[in-house]
Amino acid sequence: MAKIGVLGLQGAVQEHVRSIEENGAEAVVVKWPEQLAELDGLILPGGESTTMRRLIDRYGFMEPLREFGKSGRPIFGTCAGLILLAGEVAGYDEPHLGLMNIVVERNSFGRQKESFEANLLIKDVADEYNAVFIRAPHIVSTGEGTEVLAEHDGRIVAARDRHYLGCSFHPELTDDHRITRYFIGMAEEAKASLANS
Ligand code: GLN
Repeated sequence: MAKIGVLGLQGAVQEHVRSIEENGAEAVVVKWPEQLAELDGLILPGGESTTMRRLIDRYGFMEPLREFGKSGRPIFGTCAGLILLAGEVAGYDEPHLGLMNIVVERNSFGRQKESFEANLLIKDVADEYNAVFIRAPHIVSTGEGTEVLAEHDGRIVAARDRHYLGCSFHPELTDDHRITRYFIGMAEEAKASLANS
């Protein structure tokens, strides 16, 4: 069984734990960098990216998280987590983790649309998926090798770059656990191939 961590510094942590467990995988709330060693995949939850970044620095997570990604183990960034994962954040000099080959923009759906739901087609995941957006970022552009998985209003809201998965919305806030299932599949595949290498 795959063991999936949820970075537990801030944000929608327990909801992701529930979604992982509903899919029959084991969930671990990650509070310390040492816990990363036992994981097959990691979810960076939604919340507030600047707050989460401060806590990442305070608890010494920056390099361990980058190493985790570079070791080939999958990371799924949702909403603020997507901002943390991105290679570039529009309007900022430096990214956070800088691992995924995308450019993101924060709070990009406008004030009047602080939160909304939309029906999405997510490639390889669902033909119809009710997605919850809360002060959501969007993916402005994708680099080579990054596949667009979903769009809303002409904006990219989900993508995959190798073992990195990211979405603008909050998959943990509904009872539709299919995108989490897809991510667990990525973690299981990576676990099998890393064991054989
Ligand atoms: N607007 C938040 C940020 O920039 C993200 C919002 C969310 O995760 N729901 O970090």
